[in-house]
Amino acid sequence: MLRVAVVGSGPSGCYTAQSLVQQDPDVLVDVLDRLPCPYGLVRYGVAPDHEKIKSLQNSLRTVLEHERVRFLGGVQVGPDGVPAVRLRELYHAVVYCVGAATDRRLGIPGEELRGSWSATEFVSWYSAHPDAVADGFVLGARTAVVIGVGNVAVDVTRMLARGVRELTPTDMPQTALTSLAASRVTRIHMVGRRGPSQARFTTKELRELGTLPDTQVTVDPAELDLDPDYGDPSALPAAKRRNVEVLRGWAAAPAPSGRHRIHLRFFLRPVALLADGDRVGGIRLEHTAPDGQGGVTGTGRYEEIETQLVLRSVGYRGVPLDGLPFDPEHGTVPQVAGRVIREGGPAPGEYVAGWIKRGPTGVIGTNRPCAKETAASLLEDAPALVRRNVPDDAMPALRAQGCTPVEWSGWQAIERAEAELGASLGRGVVKLPDWESLLTAVHGGAPPPGA
Ligand code: NAP
Repeated sequence: MLRVAVVGSGPSGCYTAQSLVQQDPDVLVDVLDRLPCPYGLVRYGVAPDHEKIKSLQNSLRTVLEHERVRFLGGVQVGPDGVPAVRLRELYHAVVYCVGAATDRRLGIPGEELRGSWSATEFVSWYSAHPDAVADGFVLGARTAVVIGVGNVAVDVTRMLARGVRELTPTDMPQTALTSLAASRVTRIHMVGRRGPSQARFTTKELRELGTLPDTQVTVDPAELDLDPDYGDPSALPAAKRRNVEVLRGWAAAPAPSGRHRIHLRFFLRPVALLADGDRVGGIRLEHTAPDGQGGVTGTGRYEEIETQLVLRSVGYRGVPLDGLPFDPEHGTVPQVAGRVIREGGPAPGEYVAGWIKRGPTGVIGTNRPCAKETAASLLEDAPALVRRNVPDDAMPALRAQGCTPVEWSGWQAIERAEAELGASLGRGVVKLPDWESLLTAVHGGAPPPGA
């Protein structure tokens, strides 16, 4: 049998495992994750109100329940857990599907002020990620500014505008629900540095903003007019053209007024966050103009918006993995067709898939062909890889490295605890928000060993 470790149980990890076992009956896959819960960004990134996308968990579940696939949560790969070099000794091949673990920064003055967060921190909080440290995002805030016009920006904007009635049926943790229910944020500015035809959100997500109850979406026609492609969007790719059409509709006839107001702004780039004491009190933005080559130039004209909450949503970034080569410019691992490249050539037995392979772009489905390509490379290399002796079962060696792997039954115990918690609160499933409650559930209600 060919024994493979897939590191990361998000969509790219699950699709890689699926591709491997579907294409070759002689493959056994361990899917490792540092968290006790599987599904990566499907569990901890997809917005709680996007139930349809979240239901993808059901198809990922069938992969992790496959007879030749084993989920092992609670296994950290790296210097604080199982070093990459040790993992290579335990399996014929290792596929890293670790995503892009950090967020990009703006690099402007004031970014460190209280009230200035990355969208990732906000998303982690309302998604109950056990490493989420922050709280009180909306406390004392009346206006929010979201920097960036990608799908994550749309997600966080929508979550800020959602009412308690829409949030209660979701699986968001109770503390986040209580906090958002008490939120007094009524104005949300979503700001793009370039024009509407260059915005990165997808039309479905954009349109959804116009369907939010008690919410008005406004667009300034003058900002749309600045875009050279706005007047005649026929030359644009279909997806961008549809975006422009939706924006055009809102500019012509803003939705009826509501308690929440979402202002979609374009051609504005952040220059500084302004302090009110030790926290954010405003943001200074420079008006930009198209440079004719898809970029923008500054105009020297500025605008200030009073705000108590700034969420920068300017994309994710991969982080270097100890023991693997890294391309700092793109935040990815150098690879060809999924094979990790070391010293100019493919490193036998080391592969990547997903965002750490191609950068943080695309929707969940984009990971399917990406994973398939990597799996095909691995299986092509298999005859050489299986010549090396590896243990029949890596579990004892993983334990010897200090890991306490959480097996599928442990994850199922978490699922049961989340259903029970939801029932006790009169809600559906409610996520457990911290390490202690997750590990207590894994250990059958007893405190985790060493707690
Ligand atoms: P993204 O799509 O790359 O968008 C990042 C945004 O930040 C862009 O508008 C970009 O503008 C802007 N930006 C970057 N640097 C900036 C700076 N220094 N100052 C101001 N603006 C800056 O990233 P994302 O929204 O994090 O999404 C990541 C991926 O996840 C995407 O592929 C997305 O589609 C996917 N996703 C999908 C869904 C869904 O399907 N529902 C939900 C969430 C995420 P420029 O274009 O000018 O660089």
